[in-house]
Amino acid sequence: KTADLTGLPAGVPEFFHEEGVEELYPPQAEAVEAGVTDGESLVASIPTASGKTLIAELAMLSSVQRGGKALYIVPLRALASEKKAEFERFEQFGVDVGVSTGNYDSTSEWLATRDIIVATSEKVDSLVRNNASWISELTCVVSDEVHLVDDRHRGPTLEVTLAKLQKINPGLQVVALSATVGNAEEVADWLDASLVRSDWRPIDLKTGVHYGNAINFDDGSQREVRVEGSEKQEAALVADTLEEGGSSLVFVNSRRNAEAAAKRLADVSDAALTSGERDELAELAAEIRDVSDTETSADLARTVAKGAAFHHAGLAADHRSIVESAFRDRLIKVVSATPTLAAGVNTPSRRVVVRDWRRYDGEFGGMKPLNVLEIHQMMGRAGRPGRDPYGEAVLLGKNADEMDELFERYLWADPEPVRSKLAAEPALRTHVLATIASGFANSRESLLEFLDRTLYATQTDDEGRLEQVTDSVLRYLEVNEFIERDDGTLRATNIGHTVSRLYLDPMSAAEIIDGLRDWERKGGETQDASASEAESGFVSASDLRKDENSESPSTGEVPKPTALGLYHLVSRTPDMYQLYLKSGDRSTYTELCYEREGEFLGHVPSEYDDVAFEDWLSALKTAKLLEDWSMEVDEDRITERYGVGPGDIRGKVDTAEWLLGAAEQLAGELNLASNVAVREAKKRIEYGVREELLDLAGVRNIGRKRARRLFEAGVESRADLREADKSVILAALRGRRKTAETVLENVGRRNPSMDDVEADESAAPVEF
Ligand code: ADP
Repeated sequence: KTADLTGLPAGVPEFFHEEGVEELYPPQAEAVEAGVTDGESLVASIPTASGKTLIAELAMLSSVQRGGKALYIVPLRALASEKKAEFERFEQFGVDVGVSTGNYDSTSEWLATRDIIVATSEKVDSLVRNNASWISELTCVVSDEVHLVDDRHRGPTLEVTLAKLQKINPGLQVVALSATVGNAEEVADWLDASLVRSDWRPIDLKTGVHYGNAINFDDGSQREVRVEGSEKQEAALVADTLEEGGSSLVFVNSRRNAEAAAKRLADVSDAALTSGERDELAELAAEIRDVSDTETSADLARTVAKGAAFHHAGLAADHRSIVESAFRDRLIKVVSATPTLAAGVNTPSRRVVVRDWRRYDGEFGGMKPLNVLEIHQMMGRAGRPGRDPYGEAVLLGKNADEMDELFERYLWADPEPVRSKLAAEPALRTHVLATIASGFANSRESLLEFLDRTLYATQTDDEGRLEQVTDSVLRYLEVNEFIERDDGTLRATNIGHTVSRLYLDPMSAAEIIDGLRDWERKGGETQDASASEAESGFVSASDLRKDENSESPSTGEVPKPTALGLYHLVSRTPDMYQLYLKSGDRSTYTELCYEREGEFLGHVPSEYDDVAFEDWLSALKTAKLLEDWSMEVDEDRITERYGVGPGDIRGKVDTAEWLLGAAEQLAGELNLASNVAVREAKKRIEYGVREELLDLAGVRNIGRKRARRLFEAGVESRADLREADKSVILAALRGRRKTAETVLENVGRRNPSMDDVEADESAAPVEF
């Protein structure tokens, strides 16, 4: 009984009881028996939706009750604020909760006053690198979805971070929550924790494969679901659930497929709506349109009005949360989603349909079957305890052979073991530098000793491999002057410390430093940033030359690199996910490469060096997107031109802003004159505006579009905002009085009131 739990802050056991959590689920009871409320370390490997969060809460609250401090590591940034909101339930019992997102180079000292802190593993890693003082006060750390140490991109950070936290805080309680994986014992061994392993679920899950006109369940039973004429299997399954008043979650393998499926499934859900629901959905659709006026937004609003939605990582965060909560409320009847929804977001549904079990994988070079673990996590979203009699998860077979294959491959199969990806060179490069810079190791021996605490070391049979990669990484760091070796002592150089604190991949830092140095050495090749990019279209080489001739540098000073040149520089670092080249892109961007040749920093690979040149062009495509953004090209136009979602633009812009910030610091520290140009390029990316709008766009509540309209109306600066005729300002802001007042308040105008101001319609263009 939760009411009988001990060691928690006063009132909490009763509170759980009131929340409807009266008895512990069996795996939770096991965790308590294993000492999770007494500071014991634990790995809980149990199915999705079996109450892992409560185990985490018990661990953290009891730790806080003993005077300690707890950290909850989330796998996705998007989950951080959601978890924080969840834990804030405990503030009434005197438990303070904080979330650490934001920049990777700050220490967030204010968090020292919080009892529970939520952060991503990357953020925690950076806090360790920046010596945040409260890290050494931690008594409990929870790692959510710890099986993600298997992820080749993000896994190593989580792995090393847990090892560091254990080293800093001997006796630290580590509670690792995991999906059911093949080698949970090994994970528990690595973390020196006891293991709670269970297949128990709070609600029955029936799994099966739909083929022909029926679902064939793994228990041997069947359910007839007819597919009529040209109808799709998933549509028939969604209609079938709706007949019983249930909702469906359809997993597909790409964003585009998610959107296309939602459009089709909207007709199915539409047929089942009551008029009351229709009204509510119309309101929801309006809310979605209000978030942004992009095409994605309009598409989503259209399907939502009919009771269907799509969900993927390219959606704006506000769109995502609107969809999730309306689906939980059963107003939205069906969601087609990429697997991001299966990871972490609590959105159970009566029926889960896993439509695609293969996904395109660039590194694999074709369609690749998903892991058993991934499929099981999607299936685990089926069934809402207390609401549904049971959950159903269905895969789709086109024929009898495929049905058999799906049973073998997924329904009867055990999930794969979790394997460390730490020995990959990019991962080690970053973590070895950080380990040396933050003082965890000061010799090759102590470094290897530290690495011995990782999962990789627990798992590898090939002892020599880790040493080998470590040595090659040490050489790389030394050649690039990030570390120095002196009599066997390893030390980070000043620039090495900076790179580690900035959270850069050392290879990104080397690329940026080389590019900036090379520019100064060659004296730059173009004249000036503002001169060469007068238009948002491609600027021709002859234009550039004209500029050079008209105003040749006389002082011997190095000219500023252009924004495009700088965007390209940061886009080609391994810290930026570049855009893919589609068919036709190669020639487009090759042409652009020659047209704007003088603007690029560093060496341009030869066209005959296929792989390198292709990479370079992908970076150019990415840089061009960033340039478009900084030239105020419409979001819709950008999504169309580059085949990306609005969420992707945001992602690229955020990454570029961070990398340019890092470049600015490196340039400053190395006394390179380009740091001014870098700062400008960064500001323009931040606001998405041309240079002349920088002053205005920095004002809160203005943004790029309003700044442009104000500028066109003759209000060109903050000073103008404080002086200009209010009717002109109001007209430029399209008659929005509230907005106008807020903006004027934000620039400190003495009397910002818009009462009695007539909008002067002639003062601003109707449509910009
Ligand atoms: P997981 O993290 O394992 O996927 P959650 O922790 O999100 O699962 O729990 C799923 C749901 O079960 C939540 O809505 C939670 O409130 C509920 N729950 C957890 N433990 C209990 C319990 N002992 N009794 C009743 N409901 C519970």
